[in-house]
Order: sequence, then structure tokens, then C-alpha cells
Amino acid sequence: MLEKKEIYNLNSLFEKKSSFSILLYSVQNLFLKKIAYVCSFGTESAVILHMISRMDKEFPIIFLNTQKLFKETIEYKDTIIKHLSLKNVKEVFPNPKNVEISDPNGILWKKDPDLCCKLRKVEPLMLNLKQYDAWISGRKSYQNNERATKSFVDVQEDKVIISPLINWSQKQINEYFLANNLPRHPLIQEGYLSIGCQNCTVKTSNNSNPRSGRWSGTDKTECGIHFSKNFTEKTLG
Ligand code: SF4
Repeated sequence: MLEKKEIYNLNSLFEKKSSFSILLYSVQNLFLKKIAYVCSFGTESAVILHMISRMDKEFPIIFLNTQKLFKETIEYKDTIIKHLSLKNVKEVFPNPKNVEISDPNGILWKKDPDLCCKLRKVEPLMLNLKQYDAWISGRKSYQNNERATKSFVDVQEDKVIISPLINWSQKQINEYFLANNLPRHPLIQEGYLSIGCQNCTVKTSNNSNPRSGRWSGTDKTECGIHFSKNFTEKTLG
């Protein structure tokens, strides 16, 4: 685990590095085989996936399949994996026994979305991160107020989170897609700028807040994998 001073120094160092260099440095100098990318295969995931394909096509990528995703996301995942020749994408699912107990009718998202996210995202992620000391996140500070407080390097639940794109703008993301000829998520053209589970995502109503279509009409803004304190306190079953 990194000390506070080390985190501070790393954040200062990363200010001067490109996102690709941050990725390389984190893998080659800091965590070696103890780091993975946690990927949603959402609207902007292809940026880091492309960087990973340049670095090491065998690099571990964890995809959380909540079993509530749009079919377009599953298809897009397959498209990108093929396009970038990625060799090590691990698709992880919620524990079937826990789903049977806590969400037998598949409508927990309506009654208690935090508990549903814990069941379908947070717990499977924590289980699959056990072998790692750190993970890479594609979050950007422009996405919402909570993410605006984050840095290149943060610590959460005894894991280090590296966010190489934290200071990118949406314009930079779009330019990266164009410059590298990367396929876009098919739902973007239908008006979705941020895409999660089908039940909990509507079309983006405010383009300056790309996540405005997530858990629309509620005060929930995160699934819990980035801010898990409230979620670890929830009890399944
Ligand atoms: S985003 Fe919605 S459906 Fe998906 S895990 Fe969270 S509450 Fe459940």
C-alpha cells in the first residue's frame, strides 16, 4: 500500500506525464502484475483500451457484466476486443446464489438501487480484485462533482486507483477516437452519452453533464465501485 507522501509525489509526477506514460509507469514501475483495468465498455472506454493494446494485449481487463446491460454494450465489447486484438478480458458476473436470495425477480434496482449495485457490481469487483493491489479507472473529472475531486492516484478500500484520463476533456476524448479510428458505442447516435445498466440509463438530457441519464430522477450518481463506503454498509440477503 502506498503511503500518503508517495501518493502526493506520484500525483505531482503524473501531472507532467502523458496518459499513456502514466499507464506504462503504473504497470512497469509500480504494480507489475498486480494491476488490472476495470472496464464498462461504455461510451469512452475505448481510449484506455486502445492504450492498453499499444502497451500489452495480454494486460488483464475486468468487465463487470451485471446481467442488466444493454445488448448493444455486449456487442460493442466484442467489437472492440476484436478491433484491438485484446487477449485478456475477464467477464465477471454477480454471484448466482446471492442473486437468487436478494433479487429473485430481477427488480431490486427499482426498490433499492444501491443494494442492486452492490450485488451486481461492487461485490463481484471486490472478489475479482483480490489478486491485485491496484486498478485502472477511466473516470474523468468533468463527468460529475464527485469525480472532480479525484486525482491521478487515489486509494479506496485498500486498493490504489490509477485514473490516467482524470484531467481529459470531452473534446480530447472525441479527438482521440477520431485520431485512432476507434469504433464508437452504437447507442451514442441514439443520444446516450453515458451508458450503464438498461433499467437505470436514459438518454442524456444535458450534454454538459454526460451522466445526467444515469439513475435519472434520483440523487444517485455512482454505482458504488468508485465510492464504495455506502455500499459496503449495505447488507445482502
Ligand atoms: S445500475 Fe441499476 S440495474 Fe445496474 S446494478 Fe446498479 S441498480 Fe442494478
